[in-house]
Amino acid sequence: MEKFDVTVIGGGIVGTAVLDRLSRYQLKALLLEKCDDVASFTTRANSGIVHAGYDCEPGTLKAKYNVLGNPLIWKEAEELDVPHLKCGSIVVVGEDGLDGLKELERKAKANGVEVQILDREETLKLEPNVADRIAYSLYAPTAGIVSPYQMAIGYADRAVSNGAKIVLEAPVTEIRSKGGEYILSTPKGEFSTRLVINCAGAHGADINDLAGAEHFETTYRRGDYFVLDSTERKNVNTVIFPLPTAAGKGILVAPTADGNVIYGPTAIDTNDSEDVASSLDSLDVLRASVPLTYKRPAFNKCIRVYSGLRTLIGHDFVIGKSKLRENFIMAIGICSPGLTSAPAIADEVLSMAQETLHAEKKAEYVTVMPRHKRIKELSEEEIEKLIAEDSRYGRIVCRCEKVTEGEIVDAIHSPLPATTVDAVKRRCRAGMGRCQGGFCGTRVMQILSRELNIPLSEVKKGLGANIARYRVKEVE
Ligand SMILES: Cc1cc2nc3c(=O)[nH]c(=O)nc-3n(C[C@H](O)[C@H](O)[C@H](O)COP(=O)(O)OP(=O)(O)OC[C@H]3O[C@@H](n4cnc5c(N)ncnc54)[C@H](O)[C@@H]3O)c2cc1C
Repeated sequence: MEKFDVTVIGGGIVGTAVLDRLSRYQLKALLLEKCDDVASFTTRANSGIVHAGYDCEPGTLKAKYNVLGNPLIWKEAEELDVPHLKCGSIVVVGEDGLDGLKELERKAKANGVEVQILDREETLKLEPNVADRIAYSLYAPTAGIVSPYQMAIGYADRAVSNGAKIVLEAPVTEIRSKGGEYILSTPKGEFSTRLVINCAGAHGADINDLAGAEHFETTYRRGDYFVLDSTERKNVNTVIFPLPTAAGKGILVAPTADGNVIYGPTAIDTNDSEDVASSLDSLDVLRASVPLTYKRPAFNKCIRVYSGLRTLIGHDFVIGKSKLRENFIMAIGICSPGLTSAPAIADEVLSMAQETLHAEKKAEYVTVMPRHKRIKELSEEEIEKLIAEDSRYGRIVCRCEKVTEGEIVDAIHSPLPATTVDAVKRRCRAGMGRCQGGFCGTRVMQILSRELNIPLSEVKKGLGANIARYRVKEVE
């Protein structure tokens, strides 16, 4: 059985950020993830907004980590070469909404967040397409957008580059204690560890129960989205919110860091920890809500719908050391603004872990990751030079997103390798465009089959799903 100093359970944005911090120390650090890639659950399906932090209740953990996390995300997205844009956000209201904005302004002041109330004329200068009824907005210049899954993948890649280990398809099914250590059972074997850090998202409370730590009741709230074609990007400059309610920040219209536009999310309460199927009813809610803030809804430009699941344990994040189990740290119930908060949560969790581990910092570790070669972003001269070095950068595989064979091969051989069609998609966008992989899906499968040296029938879509069962001519 392999022994580790510290094991993180769960490879979402929180777990990968924690592993990233741990990997800078002289430690044997491990991350166990249930799925076949990191960022496969909530971190894959959210709004991708780097929140400013004006709407969190002052004094909560959400307010604390949101405000601390915001500048860290901007800095680390640069270091990890993850798509991001500090485009600002506006909360827009009609004539009767000014009091609501003033209440947000009060919270912003208490949280130390810069905001400004704008009238209609000033709002239109930032965002010409707000709905005609909009009279005021609250502008937060430090808000923006980031690719949430690429952020988690970036943390994972950096952690692996710094010597941490990630085991995928390794759901923790049992936790027992032996000789002052925890033994974690997974289908990939057993792992022994001095310290456990629970970052298991929707299943965080289950992991606590397995370890005999504090018991928490969990509820969930699904959010459904429309994704619009990149041709809509020119119509949206900032993140446009309505006034927040008890159910959340409301249905936004926002650009994505990768150049699309999203409308969403809904807020559907559910007890099902796997409920991520969009329903027609909730898409109708989006159809009715978007025109209230935005005057150019383009539902006919929708290229996809998706859903994400908020995990709620009470009204705040649960971050801290277990009082019932020694050497067991929890970072669970991380609902919105968990993406923005993740780097600050990770710093806090590292300090808690160090109370047990007392590890020395490594003399050297990677901070700035090598830049990705994204053909779409390069000049003609740069592309010509790259193709002269490696002709695979001259072969476009994904026509919609202009992704080349070279970029797909890079994704497959990255520090945390992409081994499925979806994992390739999340790393380099092959299959994320208008045709959603209709043209390039089989080419990506062939490249995966060749690079991983596995038969085509073993190439998975993601989350264990098979695509091809066998070659037609192989069937008797
Ligand atoms: C609709 C929606 C919109 C949101 N929008 C924003 C936003 O714009 N900005 C923002 O800051 N935040 C936003 N959030 C919040 C943010 O997405 C989450 O806070 C964040 O993704 C949670 O990350 P996590 O790592 O805790 O959980 P997850 O990403 O779910 O990761 C947990 C991981 O643990 C793994 N796991 C579970 N059980 C086990 C096990 N037994 N063994 C091993 N691994 C296990 C899972 O497979 C998963 O990969 C939004 C959330 C939702 C749902």
